[in-house]
Amino acid sequence: FVVFDHVQKSYDGETLVVKDLNLSIGKGEFLTMLGPSGSGKTTCLMMLAGFETATHGDILLDGKPINNISPHKRGIGMVFQNYALFPHMTIAENLSFPLEVRKMGKSEREEKVARALGMVQMERFGGRRPAQLSGGQQQRVALARALVFEPDLVLMDEPLGALDKQLREHMQFEIKHIADNLGITVVYVTHDQTEALTMSDRVAVFEDGRIQQLAPPDELYEKPCNSFVAQFIGENN
Ligand code: ATP
Repeated sequence: FVVFDHVQKSYDGETLVVKDLNLSIGKGEFLTMLGPSGSGKTTCLMMLAGFETATHGDILLDGKPINNISPHKRGIGMVFQNYALFPHMTIAENLSFPLEVRKMGKSEREEKVARALGMVQMERFGGRRPAQLSGGQQQRVALARALVFEPDLVLMDEPLGALDKQLREHMQFEIKHIADNLGITVVYVTHDQTEALTMSDRVAVFEDGRIQQLAPPDELYEKPCNSFVAQFIGENN
């Protein structure tokens, strides 16, 4: 469904921060890019989202190269750590906005906004502004906003990084549950080993612009392919 085909990325024309990346992600799969800071995970997500272009290689979505398709035409939902809700709009208006951009009529918008808020159990909060919500509630709204136009693919970059441990664990469960229920393909970026191992169908372990190992969580844990993976997976566990 998503294919990185010999993708390389350099920001300065010299150093490669993504080095010959090959990765196929199946429809409905929950794939996590795990690795230390600076290993190239966010860059991969940005290229998939369309905010950065690959220096070399192709990215395919549903069999088609997307290099020349602008970000908002890719139909990809996104959730980031600093969720960036519009502060001057209500929660319902925040969710309605991406639908207005897609020129959807009012009654259909209202229906979709209500459904998305229901998915994250925030239906009672549509009239509030972001500042009137807790961090966890804001993160739920950000998730609802990524889902509101019913994308097949959602990208998440450290979406739970700002939350405390208990809430993070709860949201991990919710995100996984929603993604499974809707059959959405998720590409999830984190440097948190536990998070990657609990949520994912497969984990791609990044180091220095390369995938060191790509495997389901239990295999990574039981059969790390080299000492970097063994040590990185072992931390915090
Ligand atoms: P983190 O978890 O810290 O976000 P990451 O694994 O997501 O790390 P990237 O953000 O993809 O890593 O960064 C990979 C490398 O590319 C780093 O060395 C970083 O400094 C560099 N880099 C990232 N974005 C840019 C940019 N816009 N311009 C120049 N260099 C960049």
